[in-house]
Amino acid sequence: MKIALFGGGPACLIAAIQLSRNHEVVIYERGKRVGRKFLVAGNGGFNLTNAKDQEDLIKNYTQHRALKNALLQFGSNDLRIWLDNLGISTFIGTSGRVFPMKGIKPVQVLDTIISELKKNHVIIKTDTPLVGFSDEGLPLVKEGEVVLEHQADYYIYGLGGGSWSKTGSNDLWLQYFDQLGIRTLPFSPSNAGVNIDFTEEFKAKFQGFPLKNIACSVGDKEKVKGELLITNYGVEGNALYPLSNAIRTELEQGGSTLIIDFKPSNTLRDLEGRIQERKVLPKNYGFIFKLSKAALKLIKEFSSKEEYLNPHRLIEKLKHFEVPVQSLRPVEEAISTVGGISLQEINHSFELLKHPKHYVVGEMLNWDAPTGGFLLQGCFSSGMAAANDILNKK
Ligand SMILES: Cc1cc2nc3c(=O)[nH]c(=O)nc-3n(C[C@H](O)[C@H](O)[C@H](O)COP(=O)(O)OP(=O)(O)OC[C@H]3O[C@@H](n4cnc5c(N)ncnc54)[C@H](O)[C@@H]3O)c2cc1C
Repeated sequence: MKIALFGGGPACLIAAIQLSRNHEVVIYERGKRVGRKFLVAGNGGFNLTNAKDQEDLIKNYTQHRALKNALLQFGSNDLRIWLDNLGISTFIGTSGRVFPMKGIKPVQVLDTIISELKKNHVIIKTDTPLVGFSDEGLPLVKEGEVVLEHQADYYIYGLGGGSWSKTGSNDLWLQYFDQLGIRTLPFSPSNAGVNIDFTEEFKAKFQGFPLKNIACSVGDKEKVKGELLITNYGVEGNALYPLSNAIRTELEQGGSTLIIDFKPSNTLRDLEGRIQERKVLPKNYGFIFKLSKAALKLIKEFSSKEEYLNPHRLIEKLKHFEVPVQSLRPVEEAISTVGGISLQEINHSFELLKHPKHYVVGEMLNWDAPTGGFLLQGCFSSGMAAANDILNKK
């Protein structure tokens, strides 16, 4: 069989490896190299997956039977074994995040995957974008100045989300699928920072400072423990990213408030205990409540004088501190995006319902998951599911 894949991100790369053992496989990539967002991920934490057990893993994703099946069939342990078989051993770090073993650089992980593709005779055509579909619904690729219709037995698209355009992402392909009659949604930021109306004085003094061991929430969402980083626009960080969806929803309804618990390990009563029978002055708050200067200044910034000077009111603030959110950061800066191809367009194995034999995988589908390894796992699992579905058809 001949199988054509479009996009050289992790979702298509794993599918190509799986298919290439017995079939002719070609990857069309619009950029000069494959796997550039994978490498960008490598510059940060490089959480390849998350070692949560299957049920807990699945809870982190948009609920859809295709994703659920994919994660059940190829979960984080399977991905670790798959990587191990390629020679990339991994270890489990904090909060279940899985990293390549110490000493293995991200580029080595990508090079190993590319070597495997080459070993299996996969053709990788870079600088060769998908530019639309013919009237017959076949993919059109641009090779040099020539646009050619590509004929294959099966097609897999893994064109990625909308952020970090320097890695090859853009939203041009949305219109190609729209023209094919496939429902797409514009991209929105996920796992993104938020704009907050800090004073210039606060930003100048505290930009780059972390707020550690805190927990964030929005509305009645469960608190997310982690940290925030103060930036020149507001805040970013792992205690915020899983709340992107909830913040987006609140903003659409008129306004969003980020709630920070500065002392997630202490109850109100614990904190009250620290001030009983002593005269507490604001200059001692940092010492008594173990708060950084940045945290104290932030509380001061969004409190009235009366609130700040009254230690009992301050304690309430420490446990429930409300910061108005102006907006999410733009799509371009987000770690991931939602939007793209509607999940209603695919069957249980990522095949387009209106165009059988055409599969859509990875971040180009409208699903969401937090950082911490879940994004790459979702991409790898969906790519593997599409490949296995094709293999099972013959
Ligand atoms: C800063 C940052 C840090 C991250 N860290 C992590 C992390 O630690 N853990 C984690 O799980 N996830 C992380 N992610 C997210 C993860 O990298 C992505 O979710 C994942 O790479 C998406 O894989 P994909 O295969 O769907 O698409 P991509 O990796 O985006 O690949 C899509 C490919 O398609 C190509 N393409 C686009 N249009 C066309 C076209 N018309 N024709 C042909 N090719 C085309 C692009 O050039 C690109 O190579 C991070 C992302 C960012 C930005």
